[in-house]
Amino acid sequence: MVSSLAALRGPAVTLVDDPFAQASRACLQYHEDALVLIEDGTIRAFGPYAELRDMVPDGITPEHFPGHLLAPGFIDTHVHYPQLQMIGAFGAQLLEWLDTYTFPAEMSFADAAHAERVAKLFLRELLRAGTTTAMVYCTVHPHSVDAFFAESERFNTRMIAGKVLMDRNAPAPLLDTAQRGHDESLALIERWHGRGRQLYCVTPRFAPTSTDAQLEAAGALLKSRDGLFLQTHLCENPGEVEWVRELFPARSSYLDVYAHAGLVRPRSMFGHAVHMHEHDFCTCHQTGAGLAHCPTSNLFLGSGLFKLFEATDPRRPVKVGLGTDVGAGTSLSQLQTLNEAYKVAALAGHKLDAVQGFYLATLGSARALGLDDRLGRLAPGHEADICVLDPHATPLMAFRAGYCASIEELLFMLMTLGDDRAVRATYVAGQRVYDRDRAGDPFHLPDAA
Ligand SMILES: [Zn+2]
Repeated sequence: MVSSLAALRGPAVTLVDDPFAQASRACLQYHEDALVLIEDGTIRAFGPYAELRDMVPDGITPEHFPGHLLAPGFIDTHVHYPQLQMIGAFGAQLLEWLDTYTFPAEMSFADAAHAERVAKLFLRELLRAGTTTAMVYCTVHPHSVDAFFAESERFNTRMIAGKVLMDRNAPAPLLDTAQRGHDESLALIERWHGRGRQLYCVTPRFAPTSTDAQLEAAGALLKSRDGLFLQTHLCENPGEVEWVRELFPARSSYLDVYAHAGLVRPRSMFGHAVHMHEHDFCTCHQTGAGLAHCPTSNLFLGSGLFKLFEATDPRRPVKVGLGTDVGAGTSLSQLQTLNEAYKVAALAGHKLDAVQGFYLATLGSARALGLDDRLGRLAPGHEADICVLDPHATPLMAFRAGYCASIEELLFMLMTLGDDRAVRATYVAGQRVYDRDRAGDPFHLPDAA
């Protein structure tokens, strides 16, 4: 087989370590003029162009992005693709919002053709935002998972997704049973987990919509194969926390409901975790479970303020990723999500600097997912999922960029003013699948591997 080679050139940034554990300056790598050499979808070399230029084989011309910023593709650790049609739904908190907007939207996924249409749009909107990996809730319908993974496979994106499990407290058309949910999930695991770049995630929606039997079935599923993921919701809203206390009186906390079923472990991602006690943070630290910080959603639904700097306290750090939580979240752009994360931290008396922000959206999320051996960095051996950021995307950004004296200032400007307009191009496994400025369709399916 002939190997495929590609090269990108331009200013580049990547995180190399955790800026919540040490000085931000030591965690950011920046090259004014970098080369990324890519072979068969994997980064072979990354560093200053002047040092690496001789590695570019004859006949390969690096794609050059002067004035832009090459960065690892963004990672979204919590998002619901079926909720795209109800983003920006007015006037409710979590439990009422589920009944009024979410469940009716998810019922429309009984139609497989609808699921396919939305999956196509969703994948493209992720790529437009520079997001190359996401942990995704589908609906209770197995074909909603097939539709999503099939579209992801076409783009060769590394995605993590699963069928929602609900066996109580939801409309009848959205309910499965502990046994049926288990069996349908197992069939999806066999079909998709580890096929190409697709990874399966066992997905009980949250404790109130699953019986003990279903949560235990989810725990059994996690043991059925190596490398499976788990996603669910945790301590999002005070009314929800109280409801869980009533439904599971024998458990010591909301997190304990999941721990009891064997769901708190590495590669488990708990969305929100706004109303957490120290004991629960300790449990996450000890078990290696991750939390998905979803600031636009928490603000939009009025759920509360995530304690980011408590969670990441270096004395017992919890792994934290960044999530958009669309449709309660208000943007698929991780730049816009960081804009709100900064404000949520500010209200708690902390300053989220740009290096910490970009860490959350890239390497930090990769670590929280246990995928930092292959995602989240520009580094040799890592998968070549790359976004090309444009600091001059709007007249205001271009003007403001002229007053940025450092890379940190430029990154902070991007995370404050930036959104999908600031993503010039997105590469997946070394292939340009999105080009903002391409005439006609900006999306391009990769050449068959
Ligand atoms: Zn959610």
